[in-house]
This record gives sequence, structure tokens and C-alpha cells, in this order.
Amino acid sequence: MDWQSLTIVSSVLVFGSLENIFPFFDFKATFSQRTYPNLILGFFNVTANSLTIGVILHWIWRQKIWLGFLYYIKLPWLSICISFLLLDVYLYIWHRLMHSFAFTWRFHKVHHTEIWMNTSTAYRFHTVEVIPSNIPKLFLVWLFGIEPLHLLAYEMILAIGLIFHHSNWAIPHQLDKLLSYIIVTPNFHRLHHSQILRESQSNYASLFSIWDKIFKSYSYPKYPEKIKLGVTQHSHDLNGLKLILLPFQKPEHG
Ligand SMILES: [Zn+2]
Ligand SMILES: [Zn+2]
Repeated sequence: MDWQSLTIVSSVLVFGSLENIFPFFDFKATFSQRTYPNLILGFFNVTANSLTIGVILHWIWRQKIWLGFLYYIKLPWLSICISFLLLDVYLYIWHRLMHSFAFTWRFHKVHHTEIWMNTSTAYRFHTVEVIPSNIPKLFLVWLFGIEPLHLLAYEMILAIGLIFHHSNWAIPHQLDKLLSYIIVTPNFHRLHHSQILRESQSNYASLFSIWDKIFKSYSYPKYPEKIKLGVTQHSHDLNGLKLILLPFQKPEHG
């Protein structure tokens, strides 16, 4: 197993154990009910990504026509910081756009239909959302000349962050609140998964929460235990096939 896969598996094991030993909400669904649909989507996304983004990245890093703006920055730490901030602010904008249009919401809604938010929710994204999300990212990598190692490091930290903030781990409230000033935490992200529209239209950040502060969408929940997760039109568990077909169907009611 390579070190990237090892990092992901370790994060799932650590946060998966913590959410079961110290749960925030009591799970009423079985392990298979709450994880299998998400893992099916995750499998599709990882396969589709490796068949598309990998090939294009290989071309970008081999071409010598345009080396990117970061090529002229000779301080490696500054280059890493700028790369991380660019990739993260892009993800913030993408996520906010997904909530802004009826058409994009159809696909992003799949992520929000989660009732039992847990570590596997980090993989609950529709493939039709995931694949196009790579196009502006690849453009950024090309335009700024983001280095392979810096992109890989960001993707790894992001993956750990997504597993962490989707976990059902009842992290101490004060610690969660303190961390939420810098990174996305479980309580901070739970509000984004709220059924109440005003609450779900806040906290769009994926790794650094600073973007929500800067773009005025930061909201820390006063009573996170009162948040009702999911979307009102889909109040029961959906299997993998139903999640894949969901964007192409009319809402059940409402
Ligand atoms: Zn969202
Ligand atoms: Zn989420």
C-alpha cells in the first residue's frame, strides 16, 4: 500500500473509531445502511478521477510552454502557502456555486441527503459534480504552476479534513469552536448540513474556515445538538443506485 492510501485508511480508522466510541448523535441506521451507499459513490469518483485528472496533470507537468506564476517565487514555503490557499479558495467558490443554481444543486443535493453524517459522508458526492470540479482546478495548477508534491500534499490534508469534519465524533465543544476559527470542524460543518435553508447556506469552506469569514458566510452553531441533518424532501435513507439517479428525478414532495 502506498503512503497516500495508508494515510486515508488510517484517518478512516481513527475517526471511524472515535465516532463510534464517542458519538455525537446516536446512529439509528446500521453500519451497512450508513456507509455502503457512500462507499459506492466514493468508488465511482475515485475511478473516474484516476482515469481523467491523472492523465491531464501528467501533461501539464511535462509541458514547458508555460511554467506558471509560482515558478518565479523562489521561496518553497511561500509557494506551498500560496498553492494551498489558491486550491482551497477555489473549492470554497465551487461549493458556493453548487448551492446557487437549481441545476447544480440537483447534483450537490446528493451530499446533503445524508441523515447519519459519518466519516463515509466524505465520499458521498455525485460523480457528475466531482468530474467537472476538476476542470477549474486543473486550470489553476497550469496557470500558477502548482507543483505535483504541493498538490498531492493539499489533497491528502483535504482528504483527512473531510473525513474529520464529517465524522460523528463528539469532539469537546470548546475545542471544536476554537479549531473552527482556522479549520472546518464537525460542529461547524454540521450547520452546513442542516435542513434549514439559512443554515445550509453558510459554512461552505472545506479545509480552512477563513473563507467563510472573508466572504461573510461564517456561522457557528449555538446548539449543534439541535441541528436536523439532511434535506426535507428526502427524509429517509437512499441506497447507492437511488443516489446516482436522484439528480435526474423530481423531488418526492415539497
Ligand atoms: Zn454543500
Ligand atoms: Zn459535507
